[in-house]
Amino acid sequence: MAHLWTKDDAGWIAHALSRESYDIGAHAAARTAPLASLFIEGSGASAKLVRADFAGSEVWALIAAPGSGIRVGGEAPLAGLRVLRDRDEIRTPDGEQYFFSTEALATVAPFASNGREVFCGRCRQRIAVGAPAVRCPGCGVWYDQSTGLPCWTYADTCAFCAHSTAMNAGFAWSPEDGLA
Ligand SMILES: [Zn+2]
Ligand SMILES: [Zn+2]
Repeated sequence: MAHLWTKDDAGWIAHALSRESYDIGAHAAARTAPLASLFIEGSGASAKLVRADFAGSEVWALIAAPGSGIRVGGEAPLAGLRVLRDRDEIRTPDGEQYFFSTEALATVAPFASNGREVFCGRCRQRIAVGAPAVRCPGCGVWYDQSTGLPCWTYADTCAFCAHSTAMNAGFAWSPEDGLA
């Protein structure tokens, strides 16, 4: 799941983008408010983050109101629309700064089939619908992950990419890395 980094006095915080859309760039008074209130619909936002799903992959776009002054990576969105890429910086005219990130954390969740059979990246057995499973954040391959079938955490890294299988690994990238 993609997330959005915001900064407060304590530093940068990642917020999972779990909804269909979010308001961005609310009036300056909202800067000191918790992020949740920034994301209230109709709060004077000048741009929106909107999600589209393509064959199980999510794509996020920023749609800016005319004259919003919002910049993505230092540039005004062409025709008010910009498909977001990993680590894009979003900046409002009053200096509010966000970073978009496509990096996901490994989480165990009941496997939801979209009609296709999916086979575990470790044991090669079909993953049962509803069974605890992990989707590798690095390559998207699914693994069983239960007490009886701990296929994801069986080895230190994913069998197909170098992603760590630690369940508490945290994000590999934060805005601090990009602002050094
Ligand atoms: Zn397995
Ligand atoms: Zn992987």
